[in-house]
Amino acid sequence: MKLPKSHPRFESLKTREKLVTGFKEGYVAINGLIAQGRGECFDYLLEEKTQNFAMNTERVAVALLLLSKSPVISVNGNVAALCGREICKLAKILKCPVEVNLFYWTKKRGEIIEKKLRKFYDNVLTEKTKKIPNLNSKRANVSRYFYNADVALIPLEDGDRAEALVKMKKNVIAIDLNPLSRTSQNATISIVDNIVRAIPNMITYAEELKNLRRDELEDIVKKFKNEKNLKMAINFLKGKI
Ligand code: ATP
Ligand code: MG
Repeated sequence: MKLPKSHPRFESLKTREKLVTGFKEGYVAINGLIAQGRGECFDYLLEEKTQNFAMNTERVAVALLLLSKSPVISVNGNVAALCGREICKLAKILKCPVEVNLFYWTKKRGEIIEKKLRKFYDNVLTEKTKKIPNLNSKRANVSRYFYNADVALIPLEDGDRAEALVKMKKNVIAIDLNPLSRTSQNATISIVDNIVRAIPNMITYAEELKNLRRDELEDIVKKFKNEKNLKMAINFLKGKI
């Protein structure tokens, strides 16, 4: 569908259209459309823009990713549809692999997403030989690299899996519009922002921070407190209702 740029909800409609196209192409799960709806509700309250607390958190997250020995980015259908290209660009700067992990896994969905990502980036992990402990979903199946990764960036994650990854002693960076979700509440660093804004912001930060020394990056991470960050996000929402 051709969307008029002048429409007051142009960005939001464009985002929905990408998901609908992804659904028609067979890789966005129908439940993914519902998840987007839940997110949009919070985005409305966040004024559909990156608030200062989220901008800072995105910077800290990039600093941690640059410091880590074995970072990984997890991609599902919604993430691939909304910002597959940008995720690959970020991964390239961070020199880290991306991996497709699907809650509603089918071989076909997995293959379509992998193919989509490979158009932009080579380092896509496909092997699924390990299992995240204490997790009863298809999203538990991961590669050996993912299993051993020290930092995992998990946009639009399921709360159970975020919790299980933290239990594995990984540093978990979530991107989730709901600061109250189990994912945001359990993550090490919770970015409360829409992925369509968060990932481009993180690309800009990655370009900027990749030239810093380790001690400078460590300084950025040390100053950050996720509890305070989540409190700021929740207080912002409270001020809106
Ligand atoms: P949790 O499992 O973490 O408790 P949930 O069960 O409430 O969360 P899910 O349906 O599992 O929610 O996943 C959808 C989550 O993804 C929601 O928290 C929603 O806010 C978030 N979300 C959806 N679309 C976006 C988006 N475009 N950008 C960022 N977050 C989003
Ligand atoms: Mg959930």
